[in-house]
Amino acid sequence: MKVLVVAAHPDDEVLGCGATAARLAEEGQDVHFAILGEGITSRHGQGSDADENQMASLHQHAHAAAEKVGAKSLELYNLPDNRLDTVPLLEVVKIVEDLIERLRPEIIYTHHAGDLNVDHGVVHRAVLTATRPVTGQTVREIYAFEVPSSTEWAFQQLQPSFRPNVFVDVARTLELKIAAMECYKSEARKFPHPRSPEALRALAVRWGSVVGCAAAEAFELVRSIRLQAD
Ligand SMILES: [Zn+2]
Repeated sequence: MKVLVVAAHPDDEVLGCGATAARLAEEGQDVHFAILGEGITSRHGQGSDADENQMASLHQHAHAAAEKVGAKSLELYNLPDNRLDTVPLLEVVKIVEDLIERLRPEIIYTHHAGDLNVDHGVVHRAVLTATRPVTGQTVREIYAFEVPSSTEWAFQQLQPSFRPNVFVDVARTLELKIAAMECYKSEARKFPHPRSPEALRALAVRWGSVVGCAAAEAFELVRSIRLQAD
């Protein structure tokens, strides 16, 4: 099985499904990460050295995190941070279409549509558009993940709200997710921030308790198609 994770910002891939990705990789599946946004807001003017340095170190962190969870590949794009809604949707869709054409994944994990962060909603929509279920489409299943400090911070005021119905037991790989987050030094947050290690563990324990295991990541099934073999 080939699995593609499509995220808006560096660290969303880990926050959303890092422990599940680590589990899938351990089980021998090919997990590919794609991060569409550059992940920093230009603060020093276009192409400045300060921005370039910040970007380079963020890319290093992303590669270290991908390695930590056993991802087979990581592709980084540079769509503008927190302004994905200013990019023509077609441009975002083309990136995802190109990824699907080259990697031919059967399963995609991506953002939930109702997150507070606008970029997350754009990526969700781009994935849905790029995976239209025409004949020959390789993608059979799409799952939406939650990103702590974005999904729950919509306070169910943005539609749709996150309604998880797929739970993955990650008791054995949760610490790889925590370690992968620690690779993102610039994104580190202290407890009780939702992205702190303590809060990430608490969230996983909470979802685990809902479904009878020690720790879980929660997803919302967007689509599942089971074709019959010829
Ligand atoms: Zn994000």
